[in-house]
Amino acid sequence: MSTHPSPEISVIVPVYDEEGNLPRLLEETGSALDRTGRPYEIILVDDGSRDGSARLIVEASRRDPRVRLVALRRNFGQTAALQAGFDQAYGSILVTMDADLQNDPADIPMLVAKLEEGYDLVTGWRRRRRDSFLRNLASSMANSLISRLTRVRVHDSGCTLKAYRREVVQELRLYGEMHRFIPALASWAGIRLLEVPVNHRPRLHGRSKYGFSRIVRVLLDMITVKFLLSYSTSPIQMFGKLGILSGIFGALLFVVAVVLKFTQARTLTGNPLFYLFILCEIIGIQFILIGLLAEITIRTYHESQRKKIYVLKPGP
Ligand code: UDP
Ligand code: MG
Repeated sequence: MSTHPSPEISVIVPVYDEEGNLPRLLEETGSALDRTGRPYEIILVDDGSRDGSARLIVEASRRDPRVRLVALRRNFGQTAALQAGFDQAYGSILVTMDADLQNDPADIPMLVAKLEEGYDLVTGWRRRRRDSFLRNLASSMANSLISRLTRVRVHDSGCTLKAYRREVVQELRLYGEMHRFIPALASWAGIRLLEVPVNHRPRLHGRSKYGFSRIVRVLLDMITVKFLLSYSTSPIQMFGKLGILSGIFGALLFVVAVVLKFTQARTLTGNPLFYLFILCEIIGIQFILIGLLAEITIRTYHESQRKKIYVLKPGP
């Protein structure tokens, strides 16, 4: 039987074709963590890199067993890589960070110290972003939309540099591009959240893995997150409301059509409003039926996994 190491801090880094950055990343991360004086592990999740990243990580882990490789079979994406890291981590404090050295490992001790002041999630705010103008513009629009929609006031939800208490991560199930919404998703569990400014640096080696397709993906995930946060335990409340509204609107159109029939002698079947009325009623019924189906799905989801619809406060 092997004995597991017992690190207190697990640093999780998704890696996709980052061979140029890895040596300095490991060096800077190691020395930042040494400064905390705590046992730690650095989990590098190789997300199907095609360059020499995996080999570099294996070599590093031979030299220092605190460096661990978690290798995914193919490129599953940054969110999946982070989730894989969470699943493999032993620490009671988890820190996530990009591999491209844009995040500064020297910020880790500060994040950990803040966490221990009594927060559950400390999230980095890249106050001075060192990306292209267009990137920063798109990002700041996305951030203000996300914070308005989810009512979780953070300036920079896209920053990977974050520190979590283990319990927070255990509540999270990430899909799609959802690592961007971690503060919002975790807020569901009533966590204490702190945003702190962190250093941000330009990318020196390798390329950014995303283009403008990201905007669409983030928008769609935003809709999902908003829905999950607001209605996931009672979907009929949203779909039902839309259904009722559509039904009432249709009924009003019908009344207008009937009035026109008698005042202006327009036949019902010759009046487009009449067909709009029929459409609205059909859509209304559909919405209510979708709501009912979603109610059944939600029950299956919670009961098959014994998931709770609440989160208990941890004991003193
Ligand atoms: N990454 C990953 N899988 C992917 C895309 C990216 O693991 O499919 C990693 C990448 O290696 C980096 C981090 O996620 O460590 C952020 O990626 P990138 O720097 O390209 O994004 P940007 O900083 O441009 O948002
Ligand atoms: Mg980057």
